[in-house]
Amino acid sequence: MSRQPPDHVGLDDEALKAVANETRLRIIASLGAVVRDGRYGTRRFSELMEQIGLSDSGQTTYHLDKLREQGYVERTEEGYRLTLRGLRIYQFVRSGVLSGSPAVGPFELDLDHEECGKPLSIRYEDHRVYGECEHCDVVIEGSPLRPSAFDPERPESLREGMRKQMWSENFALTQGYCLYCGGSVDTGFDYPYRGSDVDDATESEPVIRFNCTVCHWFLTTGVEYAGYLHPAVVSFCHRRGIDLREHLMLKVPIEVQRPRIRSEDPWRVTVTYAYEGDSITLTFDDDLTVHEIEREASPIESDASP
Ligand SMILES: [Zn+2]
Ligand SMILES: [Zn+2]
Repeated sequence: MSRQPPDHVGLDDEALKAVANETRLRIIASLGAVVRDGRYGTRRFSELMEQIGLSDSGQTTYHLDKLREQGYVERTEEGYRLTLRGLRIYQFVRSGVLSGSPAVGPFELDLDHEECGKPLSIRYEDHRVYGECEHCDVVIEGSPLRPSAFDPERPESLREGMRKQMWSENFALTQGYCLYCGGSVDTGFDYPYRGSDVDDATESEPVIRFNCTVCHWFLTTGVEYAGYLHPAVVSFCHRRGIDLREHLMLKVPIEVQRPRIRSEDPWRVTVTYAYEGDSITLTFDDDLTVHEIEREASPIESDASP
């Protein structure tokens, strides 16, 4: 399915110029620091002047006016505060997108690589977190992660950041929503390994391609990704005491079989999720709509439950 990007959003020179100034960014940072407990905090003019280190009130007024003209800051009876638009600029800066990227890891995880049995590891580099097997020299997952999502001094926080980021992105993308710009996301199947030097099973394996219609962010994932948060799989796991979201998507505690193609026109791809002999099979189309759900219980369970 292909959606048209909206044409009412674009680059606005005046809006960008208003924040492309050190003093005005310091005003935004100072006002952002008083947003607390779900409320927009306010700073008095004199307090703001002192905070940003300006001694000239005319200068301060000039910069505040620039920010107010573009709707980043508003004046209230108590002083000045950020608007939602101003808060978005503050959040963008605080997320670390404009900061240098720390290089962290690799750290070993308590998860083994299925292929070789050696521990998997994670590391952070260039604004991405990578899950990989150093022994096999393969990257299993690479996900963008803002520097604000973890503390470089605490390896477990990188793991937590990766876990939260990947489940959030999974939920957003499978809902057709871009986590980064808010745009609509198109989905489709593709065979990225066709014609390459891989085994036959991998060569014929379809993947999902997600493409944002607005910012053009893209991601390629296994088809199983689309079912992890589907209600049928969630309830299958819940009945077995498993909450997939507690685990790194690198290695979930259920067995996931390779996708099978039932038809290409229209697209029908099945994925089976299994646990201790029970399984559930979902059939997806290229919008990731589920058309069919088959459940298979192990003989013991089918005897016990009608
Ligand atoms: Zn390995
Ligand atoms: Zn986007």
